[in-house]
Amino acid sequence: MATDLEIFIQSAPLVDTHEHLLREPGWADEGPKDVLQDLFFNYVPADLISAGASPEAVRRLADPSDPDLEGRFRGVEKAWRAIRHTGYGEAVRTIASTFYGLEELVPEKLAEASRRTLELREPGNRLRLLRDVVGLDHIQTDDFCWPCPPDESGPDFFLYDLSWWTFCSGRPDLEQLADATGITVNSVQSLDTAMESLFERWGPTAIAVKAQHAYNRSLAWVPRSRGEAERSLQDYLHDPQGRSEESRLCLGDWCWAKGAELAGRYDLPFKLHTGYYAGNWHMVMDRIHASHLAELFRQYPGTRFVLMHIAHPYSDELTAMVKHFPNAYADLCWAWSINPRAAGLFVRRFLHEAPINKLFAFGGDTRWPTSAAAYALQCRHWLSRALRAEVEEGYLSESEARSVASDVMRNNQYECFRLDACRSAIAAASA
Ligand SMILES: [Zn+2]
Repeated sequence: MATDLEIFIQSAPLVDTHEHLLREPGWADEGPKDVLQDLFFNYVPADLISAGASPEAVRRLADPSDPDLEGRFRGVEKAWRAIRHTGYGEAVRTIASTFYGLEELVPEKLAEASRRTLELREPGNRLRLLRDVVGLDHIQTDDFCWPCPPDESGPDFFLYDLSWWTFCSGRPDLEQLADATGITVNSVQSLDTAMESLFERWGPTAIAVKAQHAYNRSLAWVPRSRGEAERSLQDYLHDPQGRSEESRLCLGDWCWAKGAELAGRYDLPFKLHTGYYAGNWHMVMDRIHASHLAELFRQYPGTRFVLMHIAHPYSDELTAMVKHFPNAYADLCWAWSINPRAAGLFVRRFLHEAPINKLFAFGGDTRWPTSAAAYALQCRHWLSRALRAEVEEGYLSESEARSVASDVMRNNQYECFRLDACRSAIAAASA
């Protein structure tokens, strides 16, 4: 039987600080065409490949033009058995049971279940699933771009990050930047003005600034002089392919610093990918440590930095950073589905080390609402187990555990992200 604490955590409002959700027309038009796409088109293919499934079998699994659902699933069935207990695998089973009535993935039952997929994509269901079925308070989406216009399908609910990814990577698309701002970049001066112009245009309606450049460079940030930045920008303008890696990093550091300064000025938290990589074959472990960010935090004390994904598997180091730096926050987005048991233990360890007002419980990090919903249910389940264990061991009373849950699920996010100002700016922009 569920305890009072579990019932509380199952129904308390939950903020989702990180998704890559398609907007409403994208979900209706380009969403999953059948049950197998819906179940498996998220992070789980990487686990299937690691378990030994062939890339061809995984490609076929997600290919809706092949009507043989049973055959497609059988091609990965052996790998599926090896990964059904990973966090990704658990979430697949949650999508299957919650939205398709499938308690187990039985090949013979897939065709019948698949009739549900098109219903799920009907207009309005994206908002209904996320807000009404799994009780999300609002969602912060990184759709990889600068513009943050109101989302008409739920202007208060679907909020957007201003992407700083290409800048931090030292690869801003200068043509696109000229289109967006009217500024042709030919010097660091004009580059700075263009970056300021993006914040002026989109800062008010953005909920945060976001960069995932740990996928293509180290998180180690180095302060750069204007002269160094000017040289690296000229390298980029004259020979973008031929410039040195050091020159790319220099331009990236300059733009990253400008973004950090502007984020502080516009009161926007700056979210950074730390830790584990999605996919296979490309992870570079020495890039992804939260401790690389120490110098950046020192130089921009007025900017709040959100360390995403608890820097798995270096999460103790991340907690130490959040304990030490007043402007650093920890975000469990994507962490539950990478490893729900590790995420639960992280919460317990964090509670006894760092200020609990700097921890955010959830983000799904997916494109589709069915996956985001399943990841939210997974978070609620494992968070209640973690806090129940603290109660059972006598470190928290029931009411303290409920209060911790409310804080990490919603209240902390409302303290850190300027929700009211963002929603007012969106309302003004819609009108
Ligand atoms: Zn992400």
